[in-house]
Amino acid sequence: MTKVPKLLLIYTGGTIGMIKDYDSGALRAFDFNHLYEKIPELNQLNCSIETVSFDTPIDSSNMNTKYWVAIVEIIERYYDEKDGFVVLSGSDTMSYTSSAISFMIENLNKPIIFTGSQLPIGDLRTDAKENLITAIQIAAARKENDEPYIKEVGLYFEYKLYRANRTTKISAEQFEAFTSPNYPPLAESGVHLKFDENLTHKGSEGEKLVVRKNLEDAIVVLKLFPGIIENVVSHILNAPGLKGVILETYGSGNALTETWFINLLKEAISKGIHIVDVTQCIVGSVVLGQYETSVQLEKIGLINGKDITTESAVAKLMYLLGEKLDQADFKIAFETSLRGEMS
Ligand code: ASP
Repeated sequence: MTKVPKLLLIYTGGTIGMIKDYDSGALRAFDFNHLYEKIPELNQLNCSIETVSFDTPIDSSNMNTKYWVAIVEIIERYYDEKDGFVVLSGSDTMSYTSSAISFMIENLNKPIIFTGSQLPIGDLRTDAKENLITAIQIAAARKENDEPYIKEVGLYFEYKLYRANRTTKISAEQFEAFTSPNYPPLAESGVHLKFDENLTHKGSEGEKLVVRKNLEDAIVVLKLFPGIIENVVSHILNAPGLKGVILETYGSGNALTETWFINLLKEAISKGIHIVDVTQCIVGSVVLGQYETSVQLEKIGLINGKDITTESAVAKLMYLLGEKLDQADFKIAFETSLRGEMS
């Protein structure tokens, strides 16, 4: 007989955990200990759910590396006991957070599903119930041999499960708030919940779970735009303690070819600052050397971010900086897909 999956629901904050007080009209935090009373539909799911909340739930705009470590520590504490995890967070920075968790946990063999909502759980037209119920269903889903369908960090929103470190938030208005521009959904929820097993991670059976908590947050995202000036770029790249830069370039990784710009990048790299080239385009990849405007970038040693999202690049940079690799190994590691975050 297959056993009933035991899940842990972790509430960090965000709209999904709010309910409207219909007398005052104000939003207040929902007590997840009373989850089954508020959403009796959960009784129909074949799983048991324990809940853990942040002491003080946060709006995800206040998310930072300390909270990422807190999430990972909760998962680590319950990893052997539970069969799957659902993490509720605000949607604003969910792609950053879920990407970070994907890098911080290696050899994952259980599902960690992030979800949230655009409207509070108590709102009449809420998307929270569907997102929460289906995220739980995905975390509990087992194949005939009792193995979980998902053995990686996913993000479920509005009928689609994505690989978390491939996602980006695209709408502050529509229920379809996320997309995964360079990797198809891992599962879709329609009349049936359909997983695409050709796209999901196979897991690392027998390998020990490795949890890494050394994140380095002295980094910056520098987005290029026509007319960017030397003085500003120089101040950013010479900021005391700066360790890494995500350089958001144009098209397939192109940038201005002016000497002052190339020299500033070169100088920063020679000081040990890691600079990653990612594209401002939502779809597609950096191809260094394809245009004359990226030939110099390749020559001076920029790291090729390929088709990684900026959110995932930020998380990967913080994670790899914590690994204290030398410059050559750092470049190799960044340009390698570690958790399926790049093609
Ligand atoms: N501002 C909220 C947050 O990210 C929005 C949401 O929950 O979706 O925490």
